Amino acid sequence: MAKSVKAFKTEVQQLLNLVINSLYSKKEIFLRELISNASDAIDRVRFEALTDDSLLQGDSDFKIKIIPDKDRHTLTITDNGIGMNREEVENNIGTIANSGTRQFLERIQHAKDGDKLEFIGQFGVGFYSAFMVADRVELLTKRAGENQRAVKWESSGSGEYTIEDAEKESRGTVITLHLREGMDEYLDEWRVRSIITDYSDYISFPIVMDVTRREKEGDEEVEKTVEETLNSMKSIWKKAKDEISREEYNEFYKHISHDFSEPLKVIHYAAEGTTEFKALLFIPSQAPFDMMMPDMRKGIHLYVKNVFITDDCKELLPDYLRFIRGVVDSSDLPLNISREMFQDDAIIKRIHKSLVGKILNTLKEMMDKEREDYLKFYSAFGKIIKEGLYFDFENQDKLKELVLYQSTANEDGKLVSLREYVDRMPEKQKDIYYITGENLESVRNSPYLEIFKEKGYEVLFFTDQIDEFVIQRLFEYDKKKLVPVHRGELDLDTDEEKKEKEEKLKESQKEYEPLLKFIHKHLEEDVKEVKFSNRLTDSVCCLVAEDSMGAGMEKLLKAMNKDVPPSKRVLELNPGHPLLSRMKGYYDEDENSERLKDYIELIHDQALISAGSTPKNPTRFTKLISELMVNSD
Ligand code: ADP
Repeated sequence: MAKSVKAFKTEVQQLLNLVINSLYSKKEIFLRELISNASDAIDRVRFEALTDDSLLQGDSDFKIKIIPDKDRHTLTITDNGIGMNREEVENNIGTIANSGTRQFLERIQHAKDGDKLEFIGQFGVGFYSAFMVADRVELLTKRAGENQRAVKWESSGSGEYTIEDAEKESRGTVITLHLREGMDEYLDEWRVRSIITDYSDYISFPIVMDVTRREKEGDEEVEKTVEETLNSMKSIWKKAKDEISREEYNEFYKHISHDFSEPLKVIHYAAEGTTEFKALLFIPSQAPFDMMMPDMRKGIHLYVKNVFITDDCKELLPDYLRFIRGVVDSSDLPLNISREMFQDDAIIKRIHKSLVGKILNTLKEMMDKEREDYLKFYSAFGKIIKEGLYFDFENQDKLKELVLYQSTANEDGKLVSLREYVDRMPEKQKDIYYITGENLESVRNSPYLEIFKEKGYEVLFFTDQIDEFVIQRLFEYDKKKLVPVHRGELDLDTDEEKKEKEEKLKESQKEYEPLLKFIHKHLEEDVKEVKFSNRLTDSVCCLVAEDSMGAGMEKLLKAMNKDVPPSKRVLELNPGHPLLSRMKGYYDEDENSERLKDYIELIHDQALISAGSTPKNPTRFTKLISELMVNSD
């Protein structure tokens, strides 16, 4: 096919502009990115060759070669990996396959300069980072096992690229960077060497370079060129923990995660016994931008006896732990394991169990001993832990220990765990109380909390949308029930207190009986009962439910087009509130007073608002309020 000139997709050009204008302070990482791609490509051909060794055509001497050329100012990186055909080049290099791209670019464009670095790192610009140091990049590549010709791709990073058929003998990819002015340092042997030691030492294939040394041969000095391997190739997960520096862990993390920031926590262990494997896992310090998208990259790279198998083994971890990155290397699995086998494989199941246990235990330990770090983790991944609590029955008890909530006890927003809540419960308190709502502001000032304040009982704030679902699993902790504050019958008092209060209540209820009946008659359509209660100290009224479905859940279900059974709640009134004696005054004067009816409507609307709903008829509600304001004196 003839040479064709094509325009980059808009988002690729945007990304390139960001890269070229160098958001990275360390330009040298382009080499890490290209070596990382080369290593992935060799991993793939080696894996595919397990079932079809004709792919290798006799060349199993896997390596990545770096060729600096000081005369031409080029740096070339070659690999004998899987290579790409024309279609793959178009799909992988000319566009950005990831669906989150647009969103990402939008975010990055609005981000502050300092944050940009983090965003772009998360995205892993990979191949494009070549343009930080090169003003022209050529890529020549040939797909293993296909009869198509090789492909040549070339671009200066501004607007267009060309693509054409080309000649190349063997499989793999050659990337040639025409270095920008001032970038010749990357042709220097020692500079290249040190970049590779710093960033790519653990790559499991040799990274080689021809080096020329003067040597004495007899009396004469001669120049000798030898191909030298620059990396140690030691699989980092196989080394003993104390042989690995934090920097090495971090670099390895960046290689497998495409995250630019440091991981928050490293989990490195060897499982022994019935199933033997090594695991090196990382908890990232920030949530990837596509965490909530269905096509998010999954985290764990599976190796069998040091051979890369896949980075897409969904069975290794439950969905909610999709943010974990790392490697699992098993010596028990067969090398020719296929995707279809993962699902029922007993060894994979055991590895899964071990990994989940280890991760959850590590998180608990962090919570207990490294609270600051845990809070960082929780602010990034708390929602996902709650997702786990909803879906992972088996580990529910462990997950319950990991959730944190704001509460009435901490004005400053400090989070409390269920354990800590229970430990500081007053002796008389029997249940764990929570309030649901859309945001902290609304729950903090809710009238439902009044009685709890009076009692000195702490109430947890459930303000994440997902909390509404989590409650369905979280009905008990440490043998104590979790009770919503809007529950009709709250068991807050001792028997004696109850008796005393009930008697008082009865008295005032008697006095107000006709009014209460009148109110109920007026609101019959919406409320089940109208009665006095001790729940309120400041507010005039609230709605309580016998079952535990709060207004939030009702809203959610409605938004999901689910049928919500009409639920009538009980309107509870505060007998001590001056508004009631005023209403009683109107009632005694004239049962048919229009003002009394307006008041009844208004208190019901207030109760709805406090419960997180909207007034029954918002237009009428505002009208009534305005009228009241006009007539207020
Ligand atoms: P990433 O590596 O994050 O996917 P890159 O932009 O670095 O993003 O690369 C895009 C894709 O191009 C890779 O996923 C891979 O499919 C392909 N690719 C890049 N470099 C090579 C290479 N040396 N050999 C084969 N394929 C490659």
